[in-house]
Amino acid sequence: MHKTKECPLIRTLQSHSINIESQLMKYTYSSSTINAGSNAKTVKGDKEYVTAVMYLAPFTLSGFNVCAMAETAKCHEPCLNLSGRGKFTSIQNARIAKTQRFFKQRKQFMEDLHKDIQRFVNWCKKRDVKPAVRLNGTSDIRWEAFKHNDKNVFENFPEVQFYDYTKISNRKTKDIKNYHLTWSYSEADMKYAAKYKEALSQGMNVAVVFRSVDIIPKKFLGVTVIDGDKDDLRFLDKKNRVVSLYAKGPAKKDQSGFVIG
Ligand code: SF4
Repeated sequence: MHKTKECPLIRTLQSHSINIESQLMKYTYSSSTINAGSNAKTVKGDKEYVTAVMYLAPFTLSGFNVCAMAETAKCHEPCLNLSGRGKFTSIQNARIAKTQRFFKQRKQFMEDLHKDIQRFVNWCKKRDVKPAVRLNGTSDIRWEAFKHNDKNVFENFPEVQFYDYTKISNRKTKDIKNYHLTWSYSEADMKYAAKYKEALSQGMNVAVVFRSVDIIPKKFLGVTVIDGDKDDLRFLDKKNRVVSLYAKGPAKKDQSGFVIG
């Protein structure tokens, strides 16, 4: 029987790509509501935690507004919704459908979300990592106000560390131990910008998007600045800090005041 000789270069490349694939598989969790592993930043920060993120259609893209302060903060155009996998039409359509389901079939949606979080918790246990969940990957919903079986999602999963960015400075989450919020700054409206004081008093840190790395100051608004691009695990940040991020995707061209510098 004739045997084809295997090329050593192809063999090396194949084993290299199998290694990369198995690394990615290790941290890839997907479900109809939350997903982990497709975002390189969360994978990079995942030494102890794996973060699963829910991506909805931001602002009014689905016909329902899920970002109450977006018009004021002018963040709907530079929104991260279109970066990474978000540039594909199929992903955009899936986010729109998911958001519409949240509004039109709330009970079923909440049931699915809770099942998916429970599966994610079990998935993390098997891999000996801690579960973290961001429900507002591309939305700004007050999850503390929604109940499932008489409890909000944070009460239903005390073992999960939830965290998000928000543009709503008066969210009443200070007493929720497993939900960490970072308020997002914008100078598109100076009344909005002044709310950073309220956000700090509610126990939130303040995230500021700078146009480039080289203009990030040591202090901003009189508050010590820390690097938010090292990882995405905001709940590990020290309190009373400004978290610096540098502009990515469409945000690089933003002139609204959302991006500083
Ligand atoms: S609030 Fe957040 S998710 Fe909503 S449009 Fe602004 S940046 Fe995007």
